[in-house]
Amino acid sequence: MLAAVLYGQEDLRLEQVNDPTPDRGEIVIEVTTATTCGTDLKVWRRGGHARMLKPPTLFGHEAAGRIVALGEGVTGWTEGDRVVANNSAPCMACFFCRRQEYSLCTDLTFNNGTFAQYLKIPAPIVRHNLWSIPDDLPDTLASLTEPLACVLHGVARSGFSPELSQCWGCAPKIVVIGDGAIGLMFVGALAHQGAEVTLFGGSDQRLLIGQNLGQREFSTTDK
Ligand SMILES: [Zn+2]
Ligand SMILES: [Zn+2]
Repeated sequence: MLAAVLYGQEDLRLEQVNDPTPDRGEIVIEVTTATTCGTDLKVWRRGGHARMLKPPTLFGHEAAGRIVALGEGVTGWTEGDRVVANNSAPCMACFFCRRQEYSLCTDLTFNNGTFAQYLKIPAPIVRHNLWSIPDDLPDTLASLTEPLACVLHGVARSGFSPELSQCWGCAPKIVVIGDGAIGLMFVGALAHQGAEVTLFGGSDQRLLIGQNLGQREFSTTDK
């Protein structure tokens, strides 16, 4: 298959590599959409990541696709299913996992390699972090599941709730600082739930996207 392989700092090469085959508990998907996360950009600039990967390595970690092969023992999925897979899965056994603090897991399984025709999904991710894509949701949007999940988690942690507008008799006013993909998704999620959002950012083009997503006011900051 054709795949992007990261060799080091700003050294990403498109190469032919062996097609992946699933071992026990694993699946292989055909990648239909892969997005570039801010982390991918940082890793490409730095040439590696202390926990996530070591070059030379397959690269990219956000994707949507279609199952093309199932390893032994995988149940509940069939070839052809459209799925998104998170890029990591907790071990479910360490001190932090037992306290349900999964992001602090000391033995996370990571997966990289979405910038390729096919992607192998490790067994822990198949078990805990593989999701089926609803029929009416295109792969291009489904591939944003991981960053959107971070945003929705942030909204939940912020203390904002749509009921606030009923208590106060007006829409809660929220300021979002930063007009990157995450900032814009915050605007969409908050405006959708009735907040009055002001977005600060450095790109007129992105601020206009924010306006379409429901921001009421916008301001340009110095770059
Ligand atoms: Zn990401
Ligand atoms: Zn753990």
